[in-house]
Amino acid sequence: GPALLFVKTSQGKEEGRRFYACSACRDRKNCNFFQWEDEKVSETRLAAREEYNRNHQPLLTHRQNVERYKNFVLLPLSKRRFCQECQQLLLPEEWEKHLDHRFLCGISMAQLKSPSQLLYPLENKKTNAQYLFADRSCQFLLKLFSNLGFRRVLSVGTPRLHEMIQSKASQEEDFRIRSLLLDIDFRYSQFYTEDEFCHYNMFNDYFFGGEAARETCRKFLSEDNGERVIMVTDPPFGGLVEALASSFKKLMTMWKETGKEGHGNKEMPMFWIFPYFFESRILDFFPSFSMMDYQVDYDNHALYKHGKKGRRQSPVRIFTNITPSTIVLPVEEGYRFCTICQRYVSSGNQHCEICDSCTSKDGRRWKHCVLCKRCVKPSWFHCNNCNCCALQNHSCEKTDAACFVCGKAGHKRSACPSLPCT
Ligand code: SAH
Ligand code: ZN
Ligand code: ZN
Ligand code: ZN
Ligand code: ZN
Repeated sequence: GPALLFVKTSQGKEEGRRFYACSACRDRKNCNFFQWEDEKVSETRLAAREEYNRNHQPLLTHRQNVERYKNFVLLPLSKRRFCQECQQLLLPEEWEKHLDHRFLCGISMAQLKSPSQLLYPLENKKTNAQYLFADRSCQFLLKLFSNLGFRRVLSVGTPRLHEMIQSKASQEEDFRIRSLLLDIDFRYSQFYTEDEFCHYNMFNDYFFGGEAARETCRKFLSEDNGERVIMVTDPPFGGLVEALASSFKKLMTMWKETGKEGHGNKEMPMFWIFPYFFESRILDFFPSFSMMDYQVDYDNHALYKHGKKGRRQSPVRIFTNITPSTIVLPVEEGYRFCTICQRYVSSGNQHCEICDSCTSKDGRRWKHCVLCKRCVKPSWFHCNNCNCCALQNHSCEKTDAACFVCGKAGHKRSACPSLPCT
């Protein structure tokens, strides 16, 4: 889809030169598209680019993959193969081409209904960063949506949540929630119809399936007859907040436009799952959002496991425009309700009388600094040189440029007060 316009700033210069680069791949190794904004592109280069794009399309269309799936499930178990190297369901006439590849046999219906387990996670940090929810977190989200009365979930980059909804819907009669998955990982088109999955880029709001796919999404958001919709998204953490926010606003607008007599000035309910140190960036774009204390856990993310003693805690949180007091966090996992803040907080998160809020971001007990006039991490001390709190062994230096993480001036990324260092 469309490239994004970036700006290259060099130190000291006011205005940098603007250029277009790939929206989805933040590593030039994965996509080397680059073009100065004011550059004239020759016919030859344009033709070469089109040729390149043609050669890099998926071999099969979503429609073809849906047909293949229908044939695949008709096969007896003994003939159902999945090529692990090509990440593809194989039909018997294709076996020959994959004989020297690793493949799985006897693919069951259960496996077909859990593609996120069958496919290997694309962990490439700079592009897909596919970190799958731990069962505990996935169950929690689903139960919460159900308790809040949502009947439709727009799953943007949350294949595991989508798959849990799909399988519950097919197994439990009284389970009434439906889900539509939007994701850039085209491998999922082998398992879902065009009404269940759209190939989508959340950095530029691009539907690869064109107007028809966009219409599928619009219909999903609109067919409400009283069925409330929520959007959930768990983007790669390296993603640009601006780009994501702009796409999510477009999806919100799409929802708003479907409201017949009126969503009035309401916003589409949304869960944006992202690390807590992006709080101020997200709130810049969505002032109606607040951050929940719930720690979202992942299966394949070594660093981000749920905190028992001595283990590292997940920095990933839920940002939402739903009234915080209605988001009940599990007491058995140590969350409690703060009656003053009117929201559930981590057990270690103490209400600070001076700040008049439960101030901890990382679950540990924070301490109030009278000089900074705010609560800070337990490991920080007030530095008279820097005139703010920091780690004891920090080097006193300042910078005028805005911090990459929180967007505020006065410190570098490495000294950002929002970062999760201890
Ligand atoms: N925790 C989620 C997965 C989050 S990982 C779950 O368990 O369901 C991030 C997801 O975003 C992956 O599924 C990845 O394929 C998808 N993704 C990455 N870049 C994307 C992009 N540009 N547009 C849409 N989806 C993207
Ligand atoms: Zn409180
Ligand atoms: Zn305080
Ligand atoms: Zn201080
Ligand atoms: Zn200092």
